[in-house]
Amino acid sequence: MDVIDPAKEECIDHLSAGTAEDVDLAVDCARRAFEGEWRTSSGAERANLLHAIAKGILRRRDELARLEVIDNGKPLAEALWDIDDAAGCFTFYADLAQEFDAAQDETIALPDERFESSVRREPVGVAAQIIPWNYPLLMAAWKVAPAIAAGCTMVLKPSELTSLTSLKLAEIAVDAGLPAGVLNLVTGLGAVAGERLAHHPGVDKIAFTGSVPTGTKIFMAAAQDIKNVSLELGGKSPFIVFDDADIEAAVEWIMLGIFWNQGQVCSATSRLIVQEGIADRLLKRLVERARSIPIGSGLDPSTKLGPLVSRGQYERVRQFVAQGVESGARLLTGGKRPVDVARGYFIEPTIFTDVPLNSTIWRDEIFGPVLVVQKFSDEQQALRLANDSRFGLAAAVMSEDETRCQRVARAFRAGIVWINCSQPTFSQAPWGGYKQSGIGRELGRWGLGNYLEVKQVTRFKRGHTWDWYGDKAHPS
Ligand code: NAD
Repeated sequence: MDVIDPAKEECIDHLSAGTAEDVDLAVDCARRAFEGEWRTSSGAERANLLHAIAKGILRRRDELARLEVIDNGKPLAEALWDIDDAAGCFTFYADLAQEFDAAQDETIALPDERFESSVRREPVGVAAQIIPWNYPLLMAAWKVAPAIAAGCTMVLKPSELTSLTSLKLAEIAVDAGLPAGVLNLVTGLGAVAGERLAHHPGVDKIAFTGSVPTGTKIFMAAAQDIKNVSLELGGKSPFIVFDDADIEAAVEWIMLGIFWNQGQVCSATSRLIVQEGIADRLLKRLVERARSIPIGSGLDPSTKLGPLVSRGQYERVRQFVAQGVESGARLLTGGKRPVDVARGYFIEPTIFTDVPLNSTIWRDEIFGPVLVVQKFSDEQQALRLANDSRFGLAAAVMSEDETRCQRVARAFRAGIVWINCSQPTFSQAPWGGYKQSGIGRELGRWGLGNYLEVKQVTRFKRGHTWDWYGDKAHPS
């Protein structure tokens, strides 16, 4: 497979396109490792390995960030942020691995004193982990770190568009002393390597992050032999801004919510729902600021908006823009390649207002730097607009009135809610969506739970008899 630098539209490397046989080999390795000593390794041992991986990532921070830039297109400062987050995720799960061991064999109270029950959590087995291209190393960390903490083994398949940093992660894991077979990596196409992995009978669990159409296929593959499955899918998240919000602060968070990573963020707050009293002033300022974002190669330190990841994504976003114009929505700014950029998959920051509620740009995930705007008069109308979506990943609200923010936060039908900000993400807090945005939660202790089975062990205490079929046990 060609590796393309999206800023230059040039091939910079080649990768093996893993076959179904490669996947079979990887799953066999993972299975053998799981049946070996790994499964009974202690939380403390796994914590040490996770800490060593975190350190390995930080040691190679600059190299990893630069690879992410030329592979994915994102600005270097964002890539560095991702690399630090990925290391932080390994550190967080290192601490959890240690705690998780201490929490083994929790005793639970029963209403019948002749019995005693304890609960154990055990690794689910061999995990298939399929990830997207928008945060290549970070998405790998969100999958690999909790699986190691839980004592699972795994086969990771990065996106065919961005495999470079996952390959480095595998090297770092080897250097950290992770036993052979625990982490296996297969680069390859979704339709070949991904498909085999999702259908493989030797896989106990599938952890998938990506689009809804692929998520549907994965869910169906998992249904065939009832695999444990978690899905982190797309979004079309709303950002409600009330009249009393500070305009400069609102504009700052709105921009971060839609232009960070070129808008290729599952939780991007891509639908702005702004109250009538502030709307015109806010949009004027937003357009001014959006037009001043420095666009260019991610390697240029002044860049704040890089190219989209691929030609396919570039064409998809351009098509959405054309549909937006056709739908009658008003294009306030952007929508095209910047005039002074000859090469690369660049699209200007784009804002549409007066967007019809049945248009594709209002309803579908664009996954590019395209914001769609609606105005509202009262809170109930804002919430109706916000929740009228088949997605439910994230939502944001901004107002000076804290009580109103809390009320709106409760009314959002979404798994992640931000008050007076948009996008900050922490390894400690659960991540995942309502509705078609997915099933299950990653990160925090919920992320560890994804890789654990729950086993109850119930003991009939000595000194009692159970005589149901004898005379004594009958009630009358
Ligand atoms: P995608 O669904 O096209 O691909 C994701 C992964 O699935 C890739 O590794 C791909 O090779 C693989 N794949 C494709 N077809 C497959 C098949 N038939 N069987 C098995 N695997 C297959 O998604 P993408 O374009 O890489 O990523 C963008 C999507 O990911 C967006 O919808 C975005 O919202 C979503 N996303 C969600 C989260 C989240 O946490 N909820 C995070 C990041 C991205």
